[in-house]
Amino acid sequence: MNALRLASLNENHLARTIVSVGDVRFGQDFVVIAGPCSVESEEQTLKTAREVKAAGAHMLRGGAFKPRTSPYDFQGLGLQGLKILEKARQATGLPIVTEVTDPRDVSWVSEYADVLQIGTRNMQNFSLLKEVGKADRPVLLKRGMYSTLNEWLNCAEYILAAGNPDVILCERGIRTFETYTRNTLDLSIVPCVKETSHLPVIVDPSHGTGRLSIIEPMSLAAMAAGADGIMVEVHCRPAEAVCDRDQAMPPKMFGGLMKKLNLLRSSMGGFNHEFMH
Ligand code: PEP
Ligand code: MN
Repeated sequence: MNALRLASLNENHLARTIVSVGDVRFGQDFVVIAGPCSVESEEQTLKTAREVKAAGAHMLRGGAFKPRTSPYDFQGLGLQGLKILEKARQATGLPIVTEVTDPRDVSWVSEYADVLQIGTRNMQNFSLLKEVGKADRPVLLKRGMYSTLNEWLNCAEYILAAGNPDVILCERGIRTFETYTRNTLDLSIVPCVKETSHLPVIVDPSHGTGRLSIIEPMSLAAMAAGADGIMVEVHCRPAEAVCDRDQAMPPKMFGGLMKKLNLLRSSMGGFNHEFMH
């Protein structure tokens, strides 16, 4: 059997991985990543970045390469989008997470991104995983929408085995028979990751539900389940969002969510889930 040599939590590897991105510590603090689904313009990205920063977000998200279901949908601004994200980082000090979709782009996208995101559709793109495994940037590895925990952790193993120890897992919902929500957010995977792996795990309740009205309760539930953070899509003008409009959160609502997360965290105090037997 090919066990997970590097990704698993076991007698030889009891220490939990902490991934540092500037002042942000995944695996130590509860990290909130917020920002638009896609970088649409400098004005939209900077305005959204300033608003999420004011509300207390720790990192900025925004896609410059968008893997879309239809080839006729907006595909992202590419290099121009990365340059806009760089300006947003300069303006706010927030580190940037952005998706990379092609192994040939990894080295130059790394010049702009603080964290490289691998999307759900590319979770098992093994040549891409090997390439980000060689990059000197942490990797946010989203769970494939059809993937088991073991398949997901094996993808993390590809990155670790290629030499990059900084992997953050991200649950973003899986396909089930339920259609009311865009995906079924599998919050039970959070404690499952914690009892099998030392890697930090965050939750994306935006893609996980696709419904603005339930992003807040799912974010709070993610914290209660022991997640190391969340990633939420926020847009300065949700009605105009080019991509994923139905789940775009207005900045004011995001501010309310941050307050509730802080309240929950303080009421949880030093509470820690114990996973090792
Ligand atoms: C995203 O976070 O921008 C995204 C496309 O998410 P996913 O890969 O989970 O669909
Ligand atoms: Mn999106």
